[in-house]
Amino acid sequence: MNKVLHLGCRTTNIVEPAHGVLKIYLRSSVGDLASCWDEIDKMLAVQFGEIQGSVGRNKTVLEHKYKKIKMMRELEGYVSRRALKFIYDELKRSKTFNFGKEDCGCVQKTSYGLPCAGIIAMKSKQKLSLVLDDIYPHWKRLSVQGQEIDDDFSVMEDWNGIQERLKTSPYNMKLYIK
Ligand SMILES: [Zn+2]
Repeated sequence: MNKVLHLGCRTTNIVEPAHGVLKIYLRSSVGDLASCWDEIDKMLAVQFGEIQGSVGRNKTVLEHKYKKIKMMRELEGYVSRRALKFIYDELKRSKTFNFGKEDCGCVQKTSYGLPCAGIIAMKSKQKLSLVLDDIYPHWKRLSVQGQEIDDDFSVMEDWNGIQERLKTSPYNMKLYIK
């Protein structure tokens, strides 16, 4: 897992809760195909709203604590809050006593496409800042303060994917999705 670029999306933290929610919705419907589909439809509408809402929050809330860190200044406003937090944690790790590049492990670089503690330590030594090129495009999709970074960003792709998966799984599987 650590050698793969998974960008923080692991089945356990995203798919599992979604199935749990679906089960709760289905439990309240007793039976026929039409009513199950109604419940699934309702659930997707609610989730769609929640996804849109969280993207909106990501756009507008800035993490002021990162402003004070000179190295990260160029990233703020252009990179998602989650990525900023990951980078901040690696920065702290790079400053731990006796941190050696050989001990880095580089998980953040290989799995998340974000600068690892080794890279941060090296840049810091050379008095360089982290730049947008250090960040895998996945983390740069949100727009902030009216500046569009990625005009194509939309949750429609995910939304369509969820619907597609529900359509293609057999009826009895929909009832017993674990
Ligand atoms: Zn590293």
